[in-house]
Amino acid sequence: MSLKDEIPKIVQLQEIDSRIYNFAQEKNIKIPQSLEQIKDESEQIKQTLSFFEDKIKNIQLAKKNKELDLAAKEENMKKNQAQLYQLKTNKEYKAKLSEIGSLKADISTTEDDLLTILDEIDSVESDFQKQKKEIDGKEREIKNKEAQLRNAIKDIEAQMHNLEAKRQRFCGQIDKKVLAKYEQLLQCRKGLALVPVSNSNCGACHLALTHQKINEIKMFNNLVFCENCVRILYIPDDIC
Ligand SMILES: [Zn+2]
Repeated sequence: MSLKDEIPKIVQLQEIDSRIYNFAQEKNIKIPQSLEQIKDESEQIKQTLSFFEDKIKNIQLAKKNKELDLAAKEENMKKNQAQLYQLKTNKEYKAKLSEIGSLKADISTTEDDLLTILDEIDSVESDFQKQKKEIDGKEREIKNKEAQLRNAIKDIEAQMHNLEAKRQRFCGQIDKKVLAKYEQLLQCRKGLALVPVSNSNCGACHLALTHQKINEIKMFNNLVFCENCVRILYIPDDIC
């Protein structure tokens, strides 16, 4: 086994792994976050709808009560008007007329209240219609977005499956010890186990490398690690 042959393979393997890593981030972190956001938006819509439903329900109930109230008052008025003709004395007659006057005023106030409620119903319903248009649009948008994300997951899974298969084939050609070290580092180095040296610096953490270190890399005797970020170092020009 010559490291000079193995390092380029690891470079290629890492390209595959970094694609797998990015897909996994997308699938396991970013997309679930977006789906969670969609759930929140959808919950807000439900709350708005239920706010209007409650408001309309309450106001309809107020209308019904006011109508019952008015009907009862009108009924009472009829009774009093009928009594008017059965009264014997002028005094009783006057008293009843005055009572009827008060009842009329009360009925008139109740009718005004009912009109106010009817206006309120119109206004709430018109508000609701306006909001409903916006909500319907938003709901469609959310559904589309969710469908897109679900499709993206399927697409990512298919691509990851292909990459995994490619990776398996590729790993068969790599020296087992080198591969094991690489994989161990990959686990804890966020998908970046092997980095190129760039202007005598580590390509990941930018630590300046000593001449001795650079020479060690060039000799291909052992894997050489950055002392700071503990990644395998290679010099791109040396493996072409
Ligand atoms: Zn480093």
